[in-house]
Amino acid sequence: MNKEIHHLPPHKNFEIDVLRLDLIHPEYGGNKFFKLKYNILKAKEQNPDSIILTFGGTHSNHIYSTAAFCEEHKIKCIGVIRGEESMIINSPTLQFARKKGMLLHFVSRNEYDGKNEKSFREELKKQFGNIYIIPEGGNNSEGVKGCAEILTNIPFYDYVFCACGTACTFTGIYSSLKQNQIAVGVSVLKGENELINDLNKYADEFQFKKLKETINYPISTSCILNNFHFGGYAKHTQELIDFKRSFETNYKIPLDYVYTAKLFYAVYSLIDNSKLLPNKKLLIIHSGGQQGNQAYEQRYKINM
Ligand SMILES: *Cc1c(COP(=O)(O)O)cnc(C)c1O
Repeated sequence: MNKEIHHLPPHKNFEIDVLRLDLIHPEYGGNKFFKLKYNILKAKEQNPDSIILTFGGTHSNHIYSTAAFCEEHKIKCIGVIRGEESMIINSPTLQFARKKGMLLHFVSRNEYDGKNEKSFREELKKQFGNIYIIPEGGNNSEGVKGCAEILTNIPFYDYVFCACGTACTFTGIYSSLKQNQIAVGVSVLKGENELINDLNKYADEFQFKKLKETINYPISTSCILNNFHFGGYAKHTQELIDFKRSFETNYKIPLDYVYTAKLFYAVYSLIDNSKLLPNKKLLIIHSGGQQGNQAYEQRYKINM
């Protein structure tokens, strides 16, 4: 696999590189490839006729990538979508998924919230047969195992930054750190420390030291930051939009609104506010997500 590293101009004595996972593949590039890899292998191993079933919202990058990846691997897939079928018209993501052959199954918000309950899963099994379930966001052991390969064959950086939704990606990266390497996750959701608890559940299986909840500045140990969510998941402020626009103009690297804009903003903010140890080499993981930009701009009437 071809992992491209792009250099950004040094900023205040920090070398900044970007690992462009978004360029791995035009359709399922980004972190989702790593989450899907071992899940699809396991599904096929269990039964060559397995049907992948997974969950997501109307604009989900995970749904988009799963549909494309499954088509390429000639494996059937079902997307359980929170919302109504009428939402398809306003969702290029769902239109794409359907075009790729994914069967879309719409459920109410209530049903969706119960997606991890045994009864709901039994119901889905009854309805669809031989399903292999991948949780929302691909956050399971196979997902972590895949994400532990993100830094494979990448040179040493003092800090590795990534965006966190479920923190599956962060968990994989954290589990694969070399000595003296620090991983910094930037949560795009509101909420304190929930992600740390989720991460720490994998500590025994992947043999890593549990993360602590407190963060000391300058950052000298791995942590997940909760202060760059800009109001919550898929929310933004004008400042974030302005940052994204000027970053893209200056450096020709496209970002997405939900994850990477907040991630890159956080890195520059940490540097400018002296929250990092000085003169270090930084790697920012570009996890993709640009597929959702157009619909996001329409929804919020953002004029690029
Ligand atoms: C899904 C996604 C994430 C979040 O990954 P987690 O493993 O759930 O934390 C980050 N960035 C992009 C672009 C994504 O699509």
